[in-house]
Amino acid sequence: EKQQGVALVIGVTGIVGNCLAEILPLSDTPGGPWKVYGVARRPKPDWSPDSPVEYIQCDVLDREQTLEKISPLKDVTHLFWVVWVNRETEEENCEDNGRMLSNVLDALLPNAENLQHICLQTGGKHYFSLFDAVAKNQNYQPHEAPFHEELPRLPVPNFYYTLEDIVFEAAKKKEGLTWSVHRPAYIFGFSPGSLMNVLGTLCVYAAICKHEGLPFRYPGNITSWEQFMDASDAELIAEQEIWAATDPYAKNQAFNCANGDVYKWKHLWRILAEKFDLEPLPYDGDGFSLAEVMKDKGPVWDAIVNENKLHPTKIKEVGNWWFADSMLNPPWGAVLSMNKSKEYGFFGFRNTETSMGQWVDKIRSSNIVP
Ligand code: NAD
Repeated sequence: EKQQGVALVIGVTGIVGNCLAEILPLSDTPGGPWKVYGVARRPKPDWSPDSPVEYIQCDVLDREQTLEKISPLKDVTHLFWVVWVNRETEEENCEDNGRMLSNVLDALLPNAENLQHICLQTGGKHYFSLFDAVAKNQNYQPHEAPFHEELPRLPVPNFYYTLEDIVFEAAKKKEGLTWSVHRPAYIFGFSPGSLMNVLGTLCVYAAICKHEGLPFRYPGNITSWEQFMDASDAELIAEQEIWAATDPYAKNQAFNCANGDVYKWKHLWRILAEKFDLEPLPYDGDGFSLAEVMKDKGPVWDAIVNENKLHPTKIKEVGNWWFADSMLNPPWGAVLSMNKSKEYGFFGFRNTETSMGQWVDKIRSSNIVP
């Protein structure tokens, strides 16, 4: 008889967590309809999707709280790891992200007897570590793109490696427990509380330019403007994770997850400008830092939120300037290979320009930007 999947999504209000929360409970989702537990640190936000998810507020960095709130979820069959915390150094990232995953697994492994699979979301940084580190001339060679899954780890700390190792250990401890690792590129999606939401951030920048009558200048470098890059639609990542969770051939493997096409920011910039009725300026050769230019715009954002009766947000929640700066100023153009994913049977894709337009529409219709 067919057993209904029971999902535990850690990071359910995040950029991919939101999509899992929407897709898993649908009647035609593979392995479903799923029962879904969704965990996030803060109370359920009023913008989160109206789907039948049992919301659990829990700080998984707090071991006692995690044991108390996650141990009783004995019927969980699948764990979806779509969460992270950002610290000053990569060593601290390894420490704290590893601790969060260990806390959750220590609550689940002895209690959730039917736990079958762990979907671990990491990212393309697996292959190059940090842009900053490369720029700062750390003495290691990042891999050359296109990146494929079998490339060896780099000899630098990376919290993605720490998380993988914890999952591998858990799978050794529990018979029949399988895993999959998912490595997206930059994610386009909807999540006003995300630590890294490039599209949401650029929408806020566009809204501020519009409001103040500022030119909509491109903050990135010539590399991102001119070279091929790739992106990952948040919904596509959720689809790949659900595929790996339910397809017997996708077990114990890492998969890149990108849209399957390439784009140039010079083209995306035009679409974004048109969406906000701004003039799409050509590249002016003077890359600048959004973090710098936006640092005093808090009150401007408050005024925009007020005037347009938007969902109340603070600029620091919706404007991840550091992330946009880092993404749009890469030292090289890089793409992820999608061959392995297709060879194993996942054929999902997105048209990045269409995907971007749809997410911008979603961000606006959800009343996060005007
Ligand atoms: P996110 O920042 O969008 O969401 C994180 C979620 O986790 C939120 O629901 C938040 O409330 C929750 N959370 C944070 N701290 C918590 C805690 N202590 N306890 C419980 N819940 C907590 O997440 P994301 O961007 O999907 O990141 C997941 C992984 O994907 C990370 O490893 C990240 O590096 C990777 N990734 C992200 C991007 C991107 O563009 N966002 C790109 C590539 C890879």
